[in-house]
Amino acid sequence: MTCIGCPMGCQLDVTKEADGAITVKGAGCGRGVIYGKQEAVAPQRMVTALMPVKGRSRPLSVKTATAVPKEKIGDVLAAVAAKCADAPVKIGDVLIPDVCGTGVAIVATSNAL
Ligand code: SF4
Repeated sequence: MTCIGCPMGCQLDVTKEADGAITVKGAGCGRGVIYGKQEAVAPQRMVTALMPVKGRSRPLSVKTATAVPKEKIGDVLAAVAAKCADAPVKIGDVLIPDVCGTGVAIVATSNAL
C-alpha cells in the first residue's frame, strides 16, 4: 500500500505474521509504520465536508476532529448533510459532538458570522 502521511508516498509492504504481529517495511518514518499497521487492522480517514447554514446560501466547511473508521465515511457525510448549522459559527466550534456513534466530533473549519 501507499502511505498517505506526506507527499513522499512511500510504498509500504505490510505483512501479518503467523503469531499475529504486523510488520511494516518500506516506511520512510515512524508515521508510515503506524499508518500501515492501522490500515491492516482498521482503516481510518479524516473526513471533510460542507454543512448547510440556516438562512445562508454559502455552506460551512467542516471536518472530523480525528479520523473515523473508513466504513463510516458515507454515514458521516450523510449526517453532516442532514444537519443545518445555526449562525454564528466560529472555526473550531463543535457542530455534532459524536457523529454516527464514532465518538468523534464534527468541527467547523470556517466561520459563518
Ligand atoms: S512513511 Fe513517512 S515519509 Fe513515507 S509517506 Fe508516510 S509519512 Fe511520508
